[in-house]
Amino acid sequence: MSAYPQAGAVVVHGGAGASRDHEDACVLAARRALAQLEVKGDALEAAIAAVVALEDDGRLNAGSGAVLGLDGATVEMDASIMDTRGRLGAVACVQSVKNPVLLARAIADTPHWMLAGEGAQRFARAIGLPESLPVTERQRSQHRELMRQLAGSVPAMPGVDNSLFARTWNYNSPMLLPEASACDTVGAVVRGPDGHFAVATSTGGSAPSLLGRVGDSPIIGSGFYAGPEGAVAATGIGEHIVRHLLARTVYGWIAEGAPLDQALRRGIELFDPDVAVGLIAVSRREAGACSNRDMPQSRMTQR
Ligand code: ASP
Repeated sequence: MSAYPQAGAVVVHGGAGASRDHEDACVLAARRALAQLEVKGDALEAAIAAVVALEDDGRLNAGSGAVLGLDGATVEMDASIMDTRGRLGAVACVQSVKNPVLLARAIADTPHWMLAGEGAQRFARAIGLPESLPVTERQRSQHRELMRQLAGSVPAMPGVDNSLFARTWNYNSPMLLPEASACDTVGAVVRGPDGHFAVATSTGGSAPSLLGRVGDSPIIGSGFYAGPEGAVAATGIGEHIVRHLLARTVYGWIAEGAPLDQALRRGIELFDPDVAVGLIAVSRREAGACSNRDMPQSRMTQR
């Protein structure tokens, strides 16, 4: 860690492809993170404060706003946290937790780094984390729109024929067509004034997806990474992001000394333009964001 005090910095995103109308949620989340940084100076606590605010917003694909599965009823969420103090935790496919990022944080204190599904759910209950709020009309209408897309000929997931979802369907209920492809995961990266870095992410996954699908968000080095030279969070279609180990790859360029904007742009350029992808990062001196779609975001620095 740097021996010299530096200004803390926060970057927050609301998902590649999400509406910029939701940028107010990112501004609020970044303010919460900065306030947390002022009180405790802990980069990880600040990143988590930002992600909790985004999970509670209800308009973004995480926590209270997580997309419904293709059956129109199930919600499966992933989240992760990591910092340069050695804290690392992730949760995959958890169905009923109000703030999955808090569960990821708690998992970092178990003997493991990741819990999934039923085991994660039971652990959340055991430590008294609040359960999800009821499904909202907004989530239902997103699901109706997605089913309309799947019934059409334009791929709802780039590069995948819509009929593959019908052929590989694994929900208990039958597939009903029809009665937007969701990519608005949330994330935060923070540089603490003491030179520590942290990242936190949370998502309802990318829609459409089969039951049990896990994207990049809880996978170390793909959806998130923090090391002595910075922290990176990714958003977009996980099936593509994991193939590039995107967060670790971009971190590597930053650690080699590439200017932050250049490293982020190079990361985005790894993908076909029809694949939505976005990145946020902090390094020792810089903080930035880059996406090939609209991406609500906010960047703030301590004075
Ligand atoms: N990366 C997330 C996933 O694939 C989705 C997103 O970023 O919107 O699960």
